[in-house]
Amino acid sequence: MGLGMMLGAHLTPRALGRIEQADVVFVAVSDPLVEQWVQGMHPDVRSLQPLYAEGKSRHDTYREMAAMMLAEVRAGKRVCGVFYGHPGVFAQAPHRAVAMAREEGFEASMEPGVSAEDCLYADLGIDPGEFGCQHYEASQLMFYRRRLDTSAYLVIWQPGVAGDRSYRRFSTPASHRKLLVDLLAVDYPLDHECTIYEAATLPIQTPRIERTSLGSLADARLDAQSTLVLPPCKPLRRNEALLERLAAIDSPA
Ligand code: SAH
Repeated sequence: MGLGMMLGAHLTPRALGRIEQADVVFVAVSDPLVEQWVQGMHPDVRSLQPLYAEGKSRHDTYREMAAMMLAEVRAGKRVCGVFYGHPGVFAQAPHRAVAMAREEGFEASMEPGVSAEDCLYADLGIDPGEFGCQHYEASQLMFYRRRLDTSAYLVIWQPGVAGDRSYRRFSTPASHRKLLVDLLAVDYPLDHECTIYEAATLPIQTPRIERTSLGSLADARLDAQSTLVLPPCKPLRRNEALLERLAAIDSPA
């Protein structure tokens, strides 16, 4: 289940029920305060956070997270995995754990949560339906050939570790980010607006909304919790051929 982004604010009654009904609760949240909050909800809360380590592959970390949860499932326990945000958004361990449990014949399901994406739409006043909205993980966008639609919004996740081929780093330097900028500069002008966004995770905080330009991005401060948002740089273009075909169907000659 997902806790949402803000401590104490986004937890759904259904998700809380999952915690309360579980025999064992595993928790993977980046903020120690949030972990403390979860500790107070159940007598047996076990942290998955120590599985992260600089220099250790994140793939191994995610595999181990799923394995730890599954071991308790196999022991006959009702297990709840608690993750910040939405447990199924840019997160591997929860999907893996649910799939593994089902494969082994156990009942498993995912409870949605308020993700960074949801907060982003609210805080930045963006509607993904207005022009469409593309979401990419920064490194995947760099490692694979994609076609960006510059008439839609572009949201880039995990820019703080952009270009980390090892999956072992907690951050990557400006030199790596510069390559991301070069890649985006094929489709966007360097003076195009680029917003660094960080949702508030405590009620006393305000979100970080820093508007910079694509060209300045390499030297900007990007953290583990930063997400990038680029508005469209081209207007929507009408698909005249398809519109004509529709017109022919609507009013046949
Ligand atoms: N499951 C989480 C996302 C985990 S992936 C969710 O539902 O939101 C981690 C990435 O999420 C980060 O690299 C960043 O791109 C984004 N993220 C995490 N915390 C954030 C925050 N407070 N504000 C904006 N984006 C955030």
